[in-house]
Amino acid sequence: MAPTAAEQHTRKAVALAARDASGHLSPLAITRRSTGDDDVVIKILYCGICHSDLHSIKNEWKNARYPMIPGHEIAGEVTEVGKNVTKFEAGDRVGVGVMVNSCQSCESCNEGFENHCPGIIPTYNTVDLDGTITYGGYSGMVVVHERFVVRFPDTIPLDKGAPLLCAGITVYSPMKYHGLNVPGMHLGVLGLGGLGHVAVKFGKAFGMKVTVISSSPGKKQEALERLGADAFVISKDADEMKAAMSTMDGIINTVSANIPMAPLLGLLKPNGKMIMVGLPEKSMEIPPFALVAMNKTLAGSCIGGMRDTQEMLDLAAKHDVTADIEVIGAEYVNTAMERLAKADVRYRFVIDIGNTLDKAAAASE
Ligand code: NAP
Ligand code: ZN
Ligand code: ZN
Repeated sequence: MAPTAAEQHTRKAVALAARDASGHLSPLAITRRSTGDDDVVIKILYCGICHSDLHSIKNEWKNARYPMIPGHEIAGEVTEVGKNVTKFEAGDRVGVGVMVNSCQSCESCNEGFENHCPGIIPTYNTVDLDGTITYGGYSGMVVVHERFVVRFPDTIPLDKGAPLLCAGITVYSPMKYHGLNVPGMHLGVLGLGGLGHVAVKFGKAFGMKVTVISSSPGKKQEALERLGADAFVISKDADEMKAAMSTMDGIINTVSANIPMAPLLGLLKPNGKMIMVGLPEKSMEIPPFALVAMNKTLAGSCIGGMRDTQEMLDLAAKHDVTADIEVIGAEYVNTAMERLAKADVRYRFVIDIGNTLDKAAAASE
């Protein structure tokens, strides 16, 4: 008789889990499946903290399964591969993003857009093909089908590179598919957090004029001097907003909260596009005139396919695009979540899983 899913989950790992909608994270011993023929086993060294992790652990999207182990900006080293694996071998520096499987046979999958597959298996909080619940990257190791593993170019450090696996592809993909990657075009980046600061860097790499639209005046100097933005508009400053009206070809909206949309759509030129990537908890209100007048487009975009994710990493290496990070120990994760909720991070927390997770787990016993 074939072994059950539970019998195949024999590998032990330490993880950080939320047990309820308080979102408090604490150590938990978990198991991972044994190596399948197409699987890559990865020792996790770093994991970025995406705002989606925060929305998820607090059950803001009303789909939480506890215990939940978040984390989908995973960077580490291959320790073992299954017998069919051709792309990777032990020792390779690799990453895993927001998905760990899909049907692999539908039109979307065949075209390289596994992110649009109706059978997509997100990295955590989902029932996996074997009936177990997926656990994310706030853990010591993970077993993933090779199709959903990408290779880090040699020049990208794993800590600064980890956030590219979600933040990077999530802003790169809409820039590519909505034509917001053209030199000389004017790009607005709304919200200067994890996604936003990478969007600024890609925009500059594409030779665009980039304006940050932010609710945090304290980020202005860094945005201009360190991240290379050309301009900075404070969204609460009526005069600055007025001066920027009708100037932008496109806006990548990365804001994680519900904010009034009409003034922001007003920043677009005629035929301008706003691409939503932020996923606030509640529905948005769009005054029809803000969209209809001057033929504006409001679109959405969800991460990106595996081919585009590898392309994005290779391009990031070429243009020296990595995340600006604050590396934290596993014991600091709850404080980091509180700070992330207040937009108090420059610009991505990354957990040093390799050096601190086991210690944090031992201390809590
Ligand atoms: P983040 O680091 O927290 O950045 C979000 C930024 O939004 C903040 O830094 C802040 O920028 C702005 N903001 C937050 N609260 C605000 C408020 N009340 N009013 C005005 N501005 C506010 O988050 P992230 O990790 O970049 O993720 C951003 C959003 O994208 C989240 O909702 C996340 O779930 C979603 N996401 C979507 C995808 C996708 O595939 N579409 C992928 C990943 C993440 P300022 O300080 O500059 O105002
Ligand atoms: Zn994410
Ligand atoms: Zn599919």
